[in-house]
Amino acid sequence: MTVVGSGVIGTSWAGLFLARGLEVTVNDPVPDAEERVRVGLEEILPTLEGLGLPTAGLTDRLRFEAELAAAVADADVVQENGPERLDLKQQIWTTIEQSAPDHCLLATSTSGIPATDIAQAMRHPERLVVGHPFNPPHLLPLVEVVPGERTSAETVQRARDFYTAMGKKPQVLRKEVPGFVANRLQAALFRECVHLVVEGVVTESELDEIVTSSIGLRWAVGGPFRTFHLGGGSGGLPQFLQHLGPALEGLWQRLGSASLDARTVELLVRQAQEAFGDRSVDALAAERDRAQIAVLKALGESPTAGA
Ligand code: NAD
Repeated sequence: MTVVGSGVIGTSWAGLFLARGLEVTVNDPVPDAEERVRVGLEEILPTLEGLGLPTAGLTDRLRFEAELAAAVADADVVQENGPERLDLKQQIWTTIEQSAPDHCLLATSTSGIPATDIAQAMRHPERLVVGHPFNPPHLLPLVEVVPGERTSAETVQRARDFYTAMGKKPQVLRKEVPGFVANRLQAALFRECVHLVVEGVVTESELDEIVTSSIGLRWAVGGPFRTFHLGGGSGGLPQFLQHLGPALEGLWQRLGSASLDARTVELLVRQAQEAFGDRSVDALAAERDRAQIAVLKALGESPTAGA
């Protein structure tokens, strides 16, 4: 398979695909791509091992090809992770379509550009689908599979099967919406987070404590709807909506708004420095990933669960 674009997301995908036993060709026009990817793979090795994935000889099946047409010529699957720019993605995909075999599955990691727009210049737009991972793809299970207006049902099914075989949890969206689902939810909640910090209700670290000791735990296990279904007593969601719905609706009217103007950014950065600044981001991320692996295993969601 071929990974096009080897930045943060491309390197992470490459690590997962290699650990899953695939032969991976990486394409990226920057001259130091190979060096960067090899360093990046070294960095994610502990996480892949923590997940129980085989990592011996991981890079034996890795090769680099700077020319896009050659990189995809023998691919069964292409996962594209180039810069988030419509013109560039259109150009990349026109080349891929012309050069990849007819049977090749074509997926883009885009965080928000609809497949409909990316595929505009393609002769066979039915072949392209969004496979949007939640960062980092080698660790978080979700892949949002988002068909464009002309993506075929067969392409969607093949994408779903492929990501499942890679140990992911693909979720097919029924409509193309800006930001897809997971990032919309993050954006909605984070707007209120920023509002509460700006208003001085809580600090950033206090807010993080509130989330990780309440909603975060509940949602990791059940998601918002199941949580409320179980939160309304034996009558489930109907009872919950009847009893607490009016209060919830009232609160919706009173939620805050937020902007990332200079003063807000200054406040957020200062509080982050106070809360997390005594340790490096790399150290915090490694600690977070170890905890994330433990949670995935406890939930039976790790790639090797049940194996
Ligand atoms: P990035 O900037 O880290 O990586 C982009 C890579 O594309 C770079 O290595 C760059 O050299 C390469 N590139 C530039 N021109 C290219 C070309 N013509 N052909 C091939 N490669 C080219 O960006 P990223 O964060 O890895 O994001 C990549 C894609 O993944 C974007 O579409 C983004 O929206 C999506 N995505 C990002 C995240 C995230 O949290 N970072 C999460 C999910 C999806």
